[in-house]
Amino acid sequence: MAERIIHNVQNMLRGERFEHRGEIVVIGLGRFGSALALELMRLGHSVLGIDANPGRVDEMKGELTHVAQANTTNERALKALGVHEALTVAVCIGSGIEASVLTTAILVDLEVQNIWAKAITADHGRILAKVGAHHVVYPEAEMGERVAHLVTGRLEEFVRLNPSPTEDESIEPGDEFVISQMVVPPRFAESTLGAAGIRAQFRVTVVAIRPEGGRYTYAEADTVLGGADHIVVAGHPDDVERFASAD
Ligand code: ATP
Repeated sequence: MAERIIHNVQNMLRGERFEHRGEIVVIGLGRFGSALALELMRLGHSVLGIDANPGRVDEMKGELTHVAQANTTNERALKALGVHEALTVAVCIGSGIEASVLTTAILVDLEVQNIWAKAITADHGRILAKVGAHHVVYPEAEMGERVAHLVTGRLEEFVRLNPSPTEDESIEPGDEFVISQMVVPPRFAESTLGAAGIRAQFRVTVVAIRPEGGRYTYAEADTVLGGADHIVVAGHPDDVERFASAD
């Protein structure tokens, strides 16, 4: 398959067309890009993975629909691969900020409609957004924040639903919203949700409940919170932490 791509690229560079309509393009097959590309494949999408490093391209051969080796800061190379015909392109170059920004700028010039770009710092993200990326993600920063909430031992899961104010200046600190999972705080063990008054006291909402070894069910007013049950709680991150710490 990769040979076919390389063959096609060579043909393209000689002036022939190579179509990738409907395919999702992942640029940069490092740890993040390859995980993203493989998950997209698992979800049933067709994926073209591109990397400047022939070793990375070789490793992904046979795993993705198509792979190609190219320096994506070269507009001609991107066009040769038909990247301008794709609806969705994810730029997963992190530490090479110049290559990440330049690649994104070329994709904007090529009028790709749905550009996702990975940023490793807030400044990097701001530049990507200014250049015209439609979505900027911060996998390292988000994972760091998530793990910080988990290592304290109170939360079992922490998922932010909007960017943090450090990543996106348009987000007010009060507008932050997360979904978390934790064991029922001791103070609320054996009470019903209706009687516990959790939303009034902590401004968080218990969304679902799962007994140890059991299944998730939606939380209702008459749901009894078992001391070892796991609950899914939504709200502001500070309120969620305050609730999780209620002994
Ligand atoms: P990881 O996802 O592994 O954490 P990272 O954030 O450290 O990656 P880089 O190592 O800078 O990011 O880039 C990820 C991948 O992108 C690498 O495999 C690298 O070869 C590829 N890459 C970097 N620059 C270019 C470029 N100009 N054209 C194509 N691919 C590139």
